[in-house]
Amino acid sequence: MRNSSVTITGTAQREAWQRRILPPAEEVSAGIDSVPVVFPGNPMRYTLSYVLHDGDECVVVDPGFDSDEGHRQLLSALAHLDIGPNEITGIVATHFHSDHLGMAARLARDSGAWIALGKNERRNISVFEDAHEESALDRARMLAWGVPEARAAEAAMSPQGLLDLRRLPDPDRRLGDADILSVAGRNWRVMETPGHTPGHICLWDHDGELVLTGDHILPRISPNVSLEIRGDTDPLRNNIESLRRISGNDRYEACPAHEYRFQGVGGRARQLEVHIEERSREVLDVLSAGASTVHEVARQLTWSRGWESLGGLQFRLALSETAAHIRYLATSDIHAGVPGLTPGR
Ligand SMILES: [Zn+2]
Repeated sequence: MRNSSVTITGTAQREAWQRRILPPAEEVSAGIDSVPVVFPGNPMRYTLSYVLHDGDECVVVDPGFDSDEGHRQLLSALAHLDIGPNEITGIVATHFHSDHLGMAARLARDSGAWIALGKNERRNISVFEDAHEESALDRARMLAWGVPEARAAEAAMSPQGLLDLRRLPDPDRRLGDADILSVAGRNWRVMETPGHTPGHICLWDHDGELVLTGDHILPRISPNVSLEIRGDTDPLRNNIESLRRISGNDRYEACPAHEYRFQGVGGRARQLEVHIEERSREVLDVLSAGASTVHEVARQLTWSRGWESLGGLQFRLALSETAAHIRYLATSDIHAGVPGLTPGR
């Protein structure tokens, strides 16, 4: 099945995605199973977790968002594979977002499994003394981005949201470029792919011609790249470089953390790069027409569900994605940027 640049291999997953139901847990290849874990209240709906197992070892990649329902889904899929909750030996998160790393603490507590993250995945956003103070600082930042007073609190990180981030576990292991993670008879080669987050990683099984892409490459959705609190200073530039690292290997089956499996990961990376360039041109046009704040630019861009429909976290992500584009244009010497985009913040 073709979808412009990619060939869809997870056809049951794709059908479920379109019908807005949960896809089946299924075997990707010997000793690799894909398990959907619910992501409540988010348009992504679920995370595709991958279970790497061989009877001795069981490593869960991207265990998903921490909810009782998601926990039941994962444990029941493991039970079908004859793996008990205390038999998980390791957990890898491609990045530190709550729909990937969220359930790691609960699984590790019950099993003693180690937790691994990319070596540059630092949770700087949760380094604060007082959640209320930090939230107020972030609200001020949203005002500096031109967000109207009435919507600044909606766009800012809430104290509770910040505390939730802080609860994500710290890793026992760090994975960097070219590290080999040997699990259940396969050798997974680590590739650092910063952009979606500063320390995002992909895992390649070159013998099995498989790649776990996390949220770096999805078959249809363009992964969000945001200028975040104490995140990368130029995340979009990093993301473009990370996309360029993905070339060839179009026979490989790509196993993303959302949507469905596909072949053609290199072509999809090129397509995402083109999409970013087009978006940057759109941002530049709006800036050139005189927009002078992040908010003013963002509301003039095209959004798939319409600007007016964006609320809460989606509103924040739209703003921080726009900010990432403005920063990229500024660091490319294409545009001077806008006030409120202080480097390093
Ligand atoms: Zn995700």
